[in-house]
Amino acid sequence: MNQFEVVVVGGGPAGSSAAHWCARAGLSVAVVDRAEFPRDKPCGGGVTTRAAGVLPGPISEVVEREISGVRFTMKPWTDFSRRAPTPVTYLTQRRRLDALLLQQAEAAGARVYQRAAVRTVEPAGAGFSIRAGASVLRCRYLVAADGANGLTARLAGMRVDRWKGIALEGNAAADPFPERWRDVMGVDFTHVRGGYGWLFPKGDHLNIGVGGWHGVGPTLRQRLQALCKTYGYNPDDLWGVRGHPLPVRRPGSPLQQGNLLLVGDAAGFLDPFTGEGIYAAVWSGRAAARSIVDAETGNPEAVNRYTDDVRKDLLPDLRVSRKLYDLFHLAPWIWTQGVRQERIWRLACRLLSGEQSYAGASAGAGLASSTLSAVYEVLKAVSRSDFGRNPPGTARRPLFFAA
Ligand SMILES: Cc1cc2nc3c(=O)[nH]c(=O)nc-3n(C[C@H](O)[C@H](O)[C@H](O)COP(=O)(O)OP(=O)(O)OC[C@H]3O[C@@H](n4cnc5c(N)ncnc54)[C@H](O)[C@@H]3O)c2cc1C
Repeated sequence: MNQFEVVVVGGGPAGSSAAHWCARAGLSVAVVDRAEFPRDKPCGGGVTTRAAGVLPGPISEVVEREISGVRFTMKPWTDFSRRAPTPVTYLTQRRRLDALLLQQAEAAGARVYQRAAVRTVEPAGAGFSIRAGASVLRCRYLVAADGANGLTARLAGMRVDRWKGIALEGNAAADPFPERWRDVMGVDFTHVRGGYGWLFPKGDHLNIGVGGWHGVGPTLRQRLQALCKTYGYNPDDLWGVRGHPLPVRRPGSPLQQGNLLLVGDAAGFLDPFTGEGIYAAVWSGRAAARSIVDAETGNPEAVNRYTDDVRKDLLPDLRVSRKLYDLFHLAPWIWTQGVRQERIWRLACRLLSGEQSYAGASAGAGLASSTLSAVYEVLKAVSRSDFGRNPPGTARRPLFFAA
């Protein structure tokens, strides 16, 4: 029997971050993961500068490209590029990033159990008893950081409501490395309605992928092939093609149950507009750790601050992101024009760097924001579906936007 103050299930960015901050505060922490690290995870490996800003340690040793330009393809006749004066995203490979974050958590004092899939979660005294692989671990606080397909919350009797999108990605060899992708990434809106495609250049290859809401799942392979051709690569040469769910939290879905806290994809904190998940994973891991540390070192009720913090500081952003998402996919042409404007592009860069939050931008936009909200409400009414409450991307187009 192994006794800890905190057990974290999942050694991805959310779990490593939670474990790191708890261990740094002197708590006894275990991280259990069913995989053996380094392990891969289907992901573009894009760490925005805002995500890098909340990570518990430096990641420069695993950064393969610093990106300061984006090449957008909207329609064949609207293909344009934008540049920022400083990097907006760091590109890495998840096998390298996650191994480093887990090592950093271990160096801070966390004990790591690999190849230890969680099988049962049971109440035990004031905490939990967890059977993971061949071990049984007991703890007072449990952090579910086991991603989109995680079981921990369900095993503990929680019902988590998430919409699931789906993404498919693969890698193309780049030898010699194409100069035009040296510090530029591609974002494509022509192949997946209600989603997007990307080209993320890595050290010696290109990661190409498409993502959208679950309805596009059966056609994703075809769309990925078409995207490859758009970028000038032969789809038959792609290697490592794999898919994975994109979980988006449904309004009202629980964030914690007493001393069990949900973080990252396990809670559905994916940004609906951009598909970015690493920032919220790390942010929520840190917020969970903060409330656990406060509870363990002072007031036991402080653990409930996790839900308050997420509601106050993360969910407003995800709500604005969701609205932007709906508006974007109903009327992409407005945004095509928007992002060409220097002012909007600069705002996008500030969002990626974390200098500006979605909620702050929305509040600061004053009249423009109220106009957008009014447009959103009109669209919601006219679309005759429960637009804004259905899975993102499935709202019926209002008549005046019909093709
Ligand atoms: C194709 C694709 C591309 C993406 N690209 C980007 C991007 O470029 N940038 C970005 O910010 N986000 C991106 N995302 C989203 C991002 O990958 C996730 O939001 C992020 O990985 C969430 O981190 P996490 O720690 O919550 O979960 P994960 O990274 O999924 O980690 C969960 C961990 O839990 C472990 N686990 C699962 N079940 C069990 C179990 N039963 N027992 C023990 N361990 C278990 C897993 O092995 C895993 O290590 C992308 C997603 C997809 C699908």
